[in-house]
Amino acid sequence: MAAARSRGSADVQGNPKSPDEGPSSALRAPSPRERGEGEGIAIVGGGIIGICAATYLAEAGRSVTVFDRTGICEETSSGNAAAFAFSDVLPLAHKGMIRQLPKWLADPLGPLTIPPAYLPKLLPWLIRFWRAGAAKHYEASLAAQVGMMKLAEAEWMGLLDRSGTRPMLREDGSLELYESEAEFRASLPGWAERERFGIGFRHVEGEEMASLQPGLSPRFVKGTFVPGWKTVADPKLLGKAVWAYAEKLGARFEHARIERIEAGTNGATIMLADGTTRKAKQLVVTAGAWSHLLAKNLGDRIPLETERGYNTTLPVSAFDVKRQLIFSGHGFVITPLETGLRVGGAVELGGIERPPNFGRSKAMLEKAKRFLPGLDPSGGREWMGFRPSLPDSLPVIGAARAPGVFYAFGHGHLGLTQAAATGRLIRDLVLGQTPPLDLTPFRPQRF
Ligand SMILES: Cc1cc2nc3c(=O)[nH]c(=O)nc-3n(C[C@H](O)[C@H](O)[C@H](O)COP(=O)(O)OP(=O)(O)OC[C@H]3O[C@@H](n4cnc5c(N)ncnc54)[C@H](O)[C@@H]3O)c2cc1C
Repeated sequence: MAAARSRGSADVQGNPKSPDEGPSSALRAPSPRERGEGEGIAIVGGGIIGICAATYLAEAGRSVTVFDRTGICEETSSGNAAAFAFSDVLPLAHKGMIRQLPKWLADPLGPLTIPPAYLPKLLPWLIRFWRAGAAKHYEASLAAQVGMMKLAEAEWMGLLDRSGTRPMLREDGSLELYESEAEFRASLPGWAERERFGIGFRHVEGEEMASLQPGLSPRFVKGTFVPGWKTVADPKLLGKAVWAYAEKLGARFEHARIERIEAGTNGATIMLADGTTRKAKQLVVTAGAWSHLLAKNLGDRIPLETERGYNTTLPVSAFDVKRQLIFSGHGFVITPLETGLRVGGAVELGGIERPPNFGRSKAMLEKAKRFLPGLDPSGGREWMGFRPSLPDSLPVIGAARAPGVFYAFGHGHLGLTQAAATGRLIRDLVLGQTPPLDLTPFRPQRF
């Protein structure tokens, strides 16, 4: 990965070099650099959303620099559950989920926790989340999510081909499992909703279920197989491979923590933690769960919270898992990756500062051992990531109040799934082209 480091004030470099920079400068109009303006596009945040935005812009021949404090695909986008969950269209805030809350919250290591000390800070977000579950808001979010997912699948399939990463795709579906008839019946309204939108699935039991995943505990009485569900070999490797393609097209990386952004009609000024600045003509904020902090100093108040998630990645030999297994009643999944067997999920609404509580990873691993009795739980690597989440379960994709600045963050549980579509939409917005989707439900000013 090429790191372009420089000190003092500099442009986000043009590529190819601007013809304005030739030797006959006395005879021509001043270049953007000479007028103190940036020439290229800056992307703040090198997670999967920033990587895809950079890739689409680089494909369009634009000069792009990605800034990140850690690296390319090194934070939340590195350790997720690897699903292209194109059929996961149901918004999180719905009556069924809200009914489950008291039971889940009663278990400190269960699928959902809120550290009591964080509750006062979280309350405004929770109230918005609650309101988003009202029928008319829910229907609107569902319709928006369905449109987004159609685009998400089409864009990922195209990007996998163009970037040569298609071999990293696994197309073996998912299997959701239920421990009782009552749990199965409770899932049926959600499946009926998905059916409305043409999402294919098959309820299974007995031998068929056992053939989809041998070695399951007999506690599971029924399952639902979703053939169109896809996963990737490893989300971190996929992100880095897509970035390698973007770099070949001229995209650059700069290792830097961004403290502040200012934007005006002459472009954006980016202030780095080392005291230097960069200029850019246009700027995209893709800083995941930290994006609202940058948006705030640009004049936009966006109620972004984080749903922290945990997992353990075991050696590949831990168990022969045939496809992603989903234990919705327990809020976690098991994904077979090329690099290991990943067991995890859960939601901890605990903000961006609190240290991780890996007791959550352990609790899910213990359950996994009960659900797949032959599983070897040893030798795992624990991890926590920050899902960037908005209360209506939709990301923010659109123009900021500040001129030339765009936002793409808040994809919650679906950032990997929707990254290519978001890259495409950001490219259209930055280039002033009409996006293929009505972006009204995603606009940053909707709150
Ligand atoms: C346990 C778990 C399982 C998940 N499973 C799935 C799944 O199966 N499928 C799916 O689609 N999604 C899944 N997700 C969600 C998905 O991982 C996220 O939605 C996605 O990674 C968010 O990507 P991002 O690029 O917005 O953010 P990030 O990956 O967090 O990237 C943001 C980047 O911005 C950088 N940054 C922030 N502030 C600054 C600053 N001031 N200066 C410089 N750099 C900065 C950070 O260093 C970071 O690299 C899961 C998440 C978790 C936690």
